[in-house]
Amino acid sequence: MTLFDRVFGGNDYNYNRTVAAIDAAIATYGESESVAFPDTAYSLPCYYGITGNKISTLGEMKAAMDVIKGMMTRNPRLQDAFDSGVASALCAEFLEALKYLHGAQPYAEPEMGFLTDAFVRNLGVPLVTGDIPGVAVIIGGAEDPAETVELAKSYQAQGMLVTVTGEGIRHLADAGMKTGEGVRVCPLGYEMQSVIHVVSVAVRAALIFGNVTPGDYKTLYKYTMDRVRAFVNAYKPLSDEIVSYGAGAICLGFPVISNETENMFRVPKSLIQQLDTTKWNATSLEARDIKLKITKIDIPVSYATAFEGEIIRRGDMQVEVDGSRVDCFELVATKDASEVEDHKITVIGPEIDEIPVGSKISLSYTVEVAGKAMQTDFESVMERKFHAYLNCIEGVMHTGQRDMIRIRISKADFEAGFKFRHLGEVLYAKIKSEFEAVVDKCQVTIVVDAEQNKALRAAANEVFSKRDDRLKSMTDESVPVYYTCIMCQAFSPSHVCIVTPERLGLCGAVSWLDAKATKELDPEGPCQIVPKERCVDEALGRYDDVDEAIQKYSHGALERVTLYSLFEDPMTSCGCFECICGVEPCSMGVVITSREHAGMTPLGMSFSDMASMTGGGVQTPGFMGHGKQFIFSKKFIAAEGGPGRIVWMPKDLKDQVRERLDATALELYGVENFTDMIADETVCTEDPEELLAYLSEVGHPVLGMEPFDM
Ligand code: SF4
Ligand code: ZN
Repeated sequence: MTLFDRVFGGNDYNYNRTVAAIDAAIATYGESESVAFPDTAYSLPCYYGITGNKISTLGEMKAAMDVIKGMMTRNPRLQDAFDSGVASALCAEFLEALKYLHGAQPYAEPEMGFLTDAFVRNLGVPLVTGDIPGVAVIIGGAEDPAETVELAKSYQAQGMLVTVTGEGIRHLADAGMKTGEGVRVCPLGYEMQSVIHVVSVAVRAALIFGNVTPGDYKTLYKYTMDRVRAFVNAYKPLSDEIVSYGAGAICLGFPVISNETENMFRVPKSLIQQLDTTKWNATSLEARDIKLKITKIDIPVSYATAFEGEIIRRGDMQVEVDGSRVDCFELVATKDASEVEDHKITVIGPEIDEIPVGSKISLSYTVEVAGKAMQTDFESVMERKFHAYLNCIEGVMHTGQRDMIRIRISKADFEAGFKFRHLGEVLYAKIKSEFEAVVDKCQVTIVVDAEQNKALRAAANEVFSKRDDRLKSMTDESVPVYYTCIMCQAFSPSHVCIVTPERLGLCGAVSWLDAKATKELDPEGPCQIVPKERCVDEALGRYDDVDEAIQKYSHGALERVTLYSLFEDPMTSCGCFECICGVEPCSMGVVITSREHAGMTPLGMSFSDMASMTGGGVQTPGFMGHGKQFIFSKKFIAAEGGPGRIVWMPKDLKDQVRERLDATALELYGVENFTDMIADETVCTEDPEELLAYLSEVGHPVLGMEPFDM
């Protein structure tokens, strides 16, 4: 037996059982039965990405088996063997898709099964910022279950996205390890073929962010090799089935690290034998050239971006800082250097061990910074990061901002010796490392005293409202320059966001002030100044300066963009947009939907469907990705009439933007309670007729607007 025999044997095994499974499914449901994974516009993603053909019925799936057969070469050459493994991966995708036949829900916790398009898009920004430095694909489990847990935790602590297939899932579950998207450890399924779900993420990343043409498999493999930092850790014993998947992984550019010795080759940088499994973390990082961003923080629990989405349930909580009931706030204040003692952390009031378990307490923290290059404009930029900084602490959950914060500290953290003072340690360490170019000294004061916080909160609120006044007065007209953001070029090589005060980056994470601070912190970095001296058309937001910047930073891929139009040279999208809007031809309005909303819109498309119409840095007039906050901006598709064009949004999104959107509509159109005039899924989901009826019933302003000039 050679490695080739094992790959080809795995291919045969997969081919035969897939054909049998399809035949059995056809016998039950017939050839026209539809096949699809939930919440994706790329069904079936791997097959579609590699061959360019979508599969939507059992009959099409059956016919596709001939294509797969054709990929299963038997040439005993390494590259051919690796390529043929892709065919095995496609069989796995078909087998998994069959599980979802006829509305079945084949997976239950902890198994996650298929990962949706929204899951892929959520990875966009953290992958480009390096907050997720790589993707660890763990297959099987160690002989000693504790070792699997340790390996998964080691990657989690580095911020990696971890997927687990097979026995390892049981090891994590038995050890009581939290899993799921929120903690970035994703158990795919107990069956080995479920590993395809992470391959599917990589393939869709290429389609969504990279603008790779489906079927152009060479470009696809190059994209996954160059831009998706994934690797495989496969515990022995490896069946031929797994070996064939491994070959496919290598074809996509993902090295396989294993302790298997039976009939294996070693191929430098691709197929690596590492018998000492405790070294897998280091070996994998080296094989995939992964560099870690490390901040050393002196706290008794883990600190990693993987914990950012972790939820602390009521029953697991030691204490809760509850800004909705008591006085709480978080604040950054710029001080003179003489007033700040670097790394001084002060806790005024009781420490956590002096407070009864389950208490809701009043707590505030003020981070005072000093630095020659510090500007008060950066205070809010830093403050907005607190959410992420504190959430990255294992066992701590933070929501909200300013004086509406809620923090939960878990019992497990309390038992590990976590103190309020450690919140200060985290804030100190992160501010000093991420803002080192502007912050020379930093001290943190934590106050745990309801009386004192009452007065302090009032003072903080004065600061917040001054800032708000400044933000309100900051319009696209009032500032001297705009900024580029090209952070997403790591995945969307020609995408450029132009960030203005009234139009934040489409990911929702980069405001004009953020971009300004980024430029200050990293002068050669992703945010560069765009002058705005040569305005060509004010209504469209067309500037010669902007066009020049777009040409330069898209490396010639784009000629022009406008800031305010949906139809004339609209801004491009990378793929990680919070929302997407699309033209609704019956009402001559636009429909907006958000990544969180899985349901249909009156366009007959879900978020995933609409999102698949744009992205990868190309312009698609009529569809545009954007941030949530852009919805209530007066500049939202201003060239086409502004936010008064919005005819449909998911209810949740309406609630999030209601207050500001109502204010904008009142100012622009003199309309009260505009958000209520916008239909949502409780009014209609797919039928444009119902939508129209609703709009006339409420007297929606779009009815008085000119038709689009499409
Ligand atoms: Fe990506 Fe644009 Fe957000 Fe920058 S502003 S991170 S380019 S989406
Ligand atoms: Zn992006």
